[in-house]
Amino acid sequence: MADFIEEAAKHKNIAYFSMEIGLMNDVPTYAGGLGILAGDTLRSGADLNLPLVAVTMISKKGYFQQEIDDQGRQIELPDQWEASRLLKPLPQVAEVALEGRVVKVRSWIYRLRSLTGGEVPVLFLDTDLEENSPEDRRITDHLYGGDERYRLKQELVLGIGGVRMLHLLGFKIRKYHLNEGHSSLLALELLRRRDMDIEAVKEMCIFTTHTPVEAAHDKFAYSVVEDVIRDLQEVELLRRFGGTDRLNMTLLALNLSNYINGVGKRHREVGMAMFPGYKIHAVTNGVHSYTWTCPCLRALYDKYMPGWANEPEMLTRVGGIPDEEIWQQHLKAKKTLFDYAKRDSGVEMDPEIFTIGSARRVTAYKRPMLIFSDIERLRKINRQGILQIVLAGKAHPNDHAGKQAIAEIFGHIENLEDEIGIAFLKNYNIKTAGLLTSGVDLWLNTPLPPYEASGTSGMKAAHNGVVNFSVLDGWWIEGWIEGVTGWSIGPEPDEDISSDEARVQEQEDLYNKLRYIIKPMFYQRRDDWINMMNNSIGMVAYYFNSHRMMRRYVTEAYL
Ligand SMILES: *Cc1c(COP(=O)(O)O)cnc(C)c1O
Repeated sequence: MADFIEEAAKHKNIAYFSMEIGLMNDVPTYAGGLGILAGDTLRSGADLNLPLVAVTMISKKGYFQQEIDDQGRQIELPDQWEASRLLKPLPQVAEVALEGRVVKVRSWIYRLRSLTGGEVPVLFLDTDLEENSPEDRRITDHLYGGDERYRLKQELVLGIGGVRMLHLLGFKIRKYHLNEGHSSLLALELLRRRDMDIEAVKEMCIFTTHTPVEAAHDKFAYSVVEDVIRDLQEVELLRRFGGTDRLNMTLLALNLSNYINGVGKRHREVGMAMFPGYKIHAVTNGVHSYTWTCPCLRALYDKYMPGWANEPEMLTRVGGIPDEEIWQQHLKAKKTLFDYAKRDSGVEMDPEIFTIGSARRVTAYKRPMLIFSDIERLRKINRQGILQIVLAGKAHPNDHAGKQAIAEIFGHIENLEDEIGIAFLKNYNIKTAGLLTSGVDLWLNTPLPPYEASGTSGMKAAHNGVVNFSVLDGWWIEGWIEGVTGWSIGPEPDEDISSDEARVQEQEDLYNKLRYIIKPMFYQRRDDWINMMNNSIGMVAYYFNSHRMMRRYVTEAYL
């Protein structure tokens, strides 16, 4: 291992920092889209042989395991996992000062290896050392858990502890990529190391912002910051770069990075309006093609488009696959999902029936309830040609509206029990996401614009020939061609209508297109439907993948 670190340290000169990384299903150190994107970034980085090293948190108790009680209420259980089964602890110990104490931080390494021979070391920071106080040992336990003070301590460990750990291990880092603002404090450490040379630090930092939802940008009261950091000179620096009233981690990153980007073209515009005066670029997100293509289709792509996984542009040649083969593999993916759904929720489903899938973090702006907003119309659509629905999603433990929505969804499932087969899969995670985005016919996404910065689950769906039906927000604005790559819900982004009218149009589109366009095509014009599936693969997935995304980061930000 020492040899490996020494060798890696010579070459890995781009450090990717992320509070969460979704590496694999058995390592629950992610909460949702941000972590999955980080995982896909690193998988593509390894495939493309990029000189990356990643830094994240060990999150020993994970995010949480989701249970649902018989009233439809979400119950959160710790998602404890055993790091030593998959990771190796390293002997180096970094130190971070907080609340006037020294906290020791060690790291665990995971070697993310690609079949191409590329490899990205991932460092998981851990404060659970005997030398630390019982309280400090728990800093790296809960992803997005605890109060403001706990979060700030985590961000000190990630940002400052992370940079120090890389130095201890001998890495010579040229660029630091901050995946969201949680790691912004690393810039403070770089300022210290660079004798306060602000321009030199900015030259090293790349900042990717992921959401226009204001509440999702971390902010800390200076009373807490002063008590945790103590060093008044440093707090002064934070006030200078991170805002005078509260320490805003997004602002800190914006002020200390030379390259800043949003995760889609629309998100870039929204970001420029939110943060006037900053130059923001757009690098539209992508998903890791191999990871998010189901096994049955991988085999088919291998046969007809060899090399597609490391060169997803090859997917444009999907037209060479006979329709019947695509359809048969799709039916297998549906069956795999339905077998799982039967075990998980007891609901029995039929692969021949038109099936809608929708899964995401359950929170107000994602509007998980839109499909249930007019039950009578949903019933009508179902009577005219049978329908099935598969859903999944976690609500953050403190998001009461989100938890309420889950309970309401369960109410609808119960009421519609004898008419429409609806399954809600517990514990939306890498595994269930893979089953869902490959095992339905139509992928439904109904966020409230303009809050979906990108969204990625629809890209996973497209890789599996699952057709998108979504509000025109985030990535779908770039991927959508009406009736060719999928369908839209609601107005176009630049349409000049009131938000009330937009809400009405969304509801009309949702039910009317399902009833008059989408379902009739599925049941009565199967050839046209398979053509839409082909377009999802050849005109959407070929572009919305993380290989394309990483090539853009390399040429625009890393070089
Ligand atoms: C892909 C994925 C997400 C993010 O999906 P969005 O469409 O961006 O909301 C969240 N959670 C899991 C488990 C995923 O696989």
